[in-house]
Amino acid sequence: MAQYTPMIEQYLAVKEQAQDAFLFFRLGDFYEMFFEDAVRASRELEITLTGREGGGDERIPMCGVPYHSAEGYIQRLIEKGYKVAICEQMDDPAVTKGMVRREIVRVVTPGTIMEGKTIADKSNNYLVCVTESDRMMSLAACDISTGELYVTSVPSSVEWLRDEIGIYEPAEMIGDSGVLELIQTEQIQWSRPVVYTPWEKKDEKLVRSQFGEAAWARLDPERQHCVSVLISYLSETQRRSLGQLTQFSPYEPGHYMILDPFTRRNLELVETVRDRSKKGSLLWLLDRTQTSMGARLLRRWIDKPLLHRKPIEERLEAVNHLYNQFILREDLKASLDEIYDLERLVARIAFGNANGRDLNALKVSLQQIPALKELCASSSSSTLRRIAGEMDECTDLSEAIDLTIVEDPPVSVRDGGLIKPGCHEHLDELREASVNGKRWIAELEAKEREVTGIRSLKIGFNKVFGYYIEVTKANVSSLPEGRYERKQTLTNAERYVTPELKEKEGLILEAQEKMVDLEYTLFTELREKLAAEISRLQLLAEKVAELDVYQSLAAVSAEQGFVKPVLTDGYDLIVEAGRHPVVEAVMKDSSFIANATRLSRKEAGILLITGPNMAGKSTYMRQVALISIMAQMGCFVPAGKAEVPMTDRIFTRIGAADDLIGGQSTFMVEMADIQVMTEKATPRSLIIIDELGRGTSTSEGMAIAQAVIEYVHDTIGCKSLVSTHFHELAHLEESLKGLRNYSMAVQESGENVHFLRKLVPGPAGSSYGIYCARLAGLPSTIIGRAYTLLQGLEQSVSQAAVGLEEVEKSTKTMESVAPAEPVNVSNEVVQLSIFGEEEIKPASKAAASA
Ligand code: ADP
Repeated sequence: MAQYTPMIEQYLAVKEQAQDAFLFFRLGDFYEMFFEDAVRASRELEITLTGREGGGDERIPMCGVPYHSAEGYIQRLIEKGYKVAICEQMDDPAVTKGMVRREIVRVVTPGTIMEGKTIADKSNNYLVCVTESDRMMSLAACDISTGELYVTSVPSSVEWLRDEIGIYEPAEMIGDSGVLELIQTEQIQWSRPVVYTPWEKKDEKLVRSQFGEAAWARLDPERQHCVSVLISYLSETQRRSLGQLTQFSPYEPGHYMILDPFTRRNLELVETVRDRSKKGSLLWLLDRTQTSMGARLLRRWIDKPLLHRKPIEERLEAVNHLYNQFILREDLKASLDEIYDLERLVARIAFGNANGRDLNALKVSLQQIPALKELCASSSSSTLRRIAGEMDECTDLSEAIDLTIVEDPPVSVRDGGLIKPGCHEHLDELREASVNGKRWIAELEAKEREVTGIRSLKIGFNKVFGYYIEVTKANVSSLPEGRYERKQTLTNAERYVTPELKEKEGLILEAQEKMVDLEYTLFTELREKLAAEISRLQLLAEKVAELDVYQSLAAVSAEQGFVKPVLTDGYDLIVEAGRHPVVEAVMKDSSFIANATRLSRKEAGILLITGPNMAGKSTYMRQVALISIMAQMGCFVPAGKAEVPMTDRIFTRIGAADDLIGGQSTFMVEMADIQVMTEKATPRSLIIIDELGRGTSTSEGMAIAQAVIEYVHDTIGCKSLVSTHFHELAHLEESLKGLRNYSMAVQESGENVHFLRKLVPGPAGSSYGIYCARLAGLPSTIIGRAYTLLQGLEQSVSQAAVGLEEVEKSTKTMESVAPAEPVNVSNEVVQLSIFGEEEIKPASKAAASA
């Protein structure tokens, strides 16, 4: 067996504790990696792989990064989904005989990063822990960069877990290996890569001391289990106090509207389907927040619309007040704009990595609070006044910082220059000694010049030799003998010291060293003092965030002409002049056509909507869902008037773009969604299905569509919007009391069709698929041929409906390829998508007449 050197032996022992991470092993000014880690890191980070003798038979692969630029490399590895264990030298090598002790001080993982570009200001970075015990599944989501920790549980259900995880979009998941496997087999394509680490250890003792016995005792046993597993992982990876985790927020899933990941995506709540960007999403539209914590809270409100009227009314009250008070809104905005990311600042303070600039950012933020509080306190809004009442100005803390930290402190906290004069007597004395010392040096320079007569003589300082007297070669002969000891020779000068200079140097340097040490001590004392007040600061941050969200919602509502919804506990959803908030906002001209919605017990709970492609069906259906969500998050809604019942869950089945599950056919996905829907929907749910029954043969598709609609009507009884190509289904209006036919109106003039985007009673007559194909710029030969085929079809189909399937196979209408913006699409793109399209659509006009 190979005999490694002691250093490599030490490395291997440490590596043993961090097998699933890259080990950054500190050697002097570098973090080195060895063996397999080095080979992989050199590939991932594109750094040179070298080797080193380590006592073994072969050279050991090695690569390294300088410690001062390590952060960027660590970030890159984390972004790629790796973990990085940081191993530091625990003794000062300068004073240690033999081997320096080395220990892992922290394991950075994708779910536990505290700083850097990876964590975007306006979003959270969650570590999610999932556990199962006593047939209950629990989930704890923690963002250590903000100090948030949510925990919840339900009787075991994978769908629930999937929906809940979707909301947190975790970077990393830990917990029961069985549950993690279940989730992985669901093959959901989360919007960011997730690292899974089975982790079943728990640390009850630590959680009890972390959160206090009283709070702990109030938590259900299965949730306690989940939180202690999470905390045990955090303590093993972070290996330091997690003072920012002062409390956990348990919640009941039943208090919020349920939105599964597909629905959230389909409705483009926080990102668009097309390119997964925030721009173009509801979040993008509603986000006028001034602070990062406000932005994160807004996102949470969108993710978790409420179910109970009272808390929503309270939010609406504040939004309404600010909606009407332009000046107050602007004043709040101006104050909020000065406030930094309190949550993250405070978390860094607790974590022990906040610097002088962070403390000043906290100070500046806290200085805004009195004005902010006053604005709220003097308003006539009960919600704003409540917030004012709950705001702790923390003046003692901002004053403490103001007394201690200089205006513009350096980034480093270890090199001095942070603490204000007058704040600590001994520090002032040391400073004076150092200043005096420097003055003495200046005086010595003048004296030496006079004594020697060398006008160019100067006194300088460098790290190696300390203070020295420098004389040019030409003048060396003028120096008196004896007193000057030569220290260094340069090309055209000599450097000397004198006993007098040496002695003073000792005093100056000692004062300086003491000064720097004392400054660091004073700084950490202040940081610890602030860390002890963390709960107050976090509570304040919550209030500021809430205020910021109200301000944001009010500003957008006022600007976009939204109205305050009337919330009810009833069934009926009645909207006058409703609009799709985002489609309307991005339209350059204000030409969005508003549409009414009446989903009621008395008239109809199901609208069966027909109409050609591009007519606006899906926009309309989404707008109804968005109005419900916006109302239940406490926002005004894009409508002339809206009466909104409390919806417990929204199901959507829209378009082909949402087929997130790899490898499954559109039809299978649709059926799987519908299965979940039949199981979970209640009379208080809202169902939206776009193009029900596509993806299989016409007769089958139609049969299934009819059966599903009947089931929703007879068994579930919830409000539903269903669009379909099957005009034949229009007859359902006769047999189903609660269903009404609607269509998107179009106006024909000669060869042209004009989309009116108006929802009108009654079924549509025609699908205009070929017309759409022409709009998309297809060659006229194809268009001509399609019209001819269509005529043939109309005749043959009217003779024998059975023949439909055959015809379908030989004929493609171009309906399904019409792009959203026909005028902007080049021929090339359209043609590509035709060949890419596998689905065969019925010629609806023909089918209609069958
Ligand atoms: P469909 O689902 O019927 O194929 P869409 O809802 O996708 O149609 O709408 C097609 C396009 O028409 C949208 O991209 C949008 O730009 C425009 N549109 C939809 N509804 C309206 C409306 N109410 N007012 C104005 N334009 C609309």
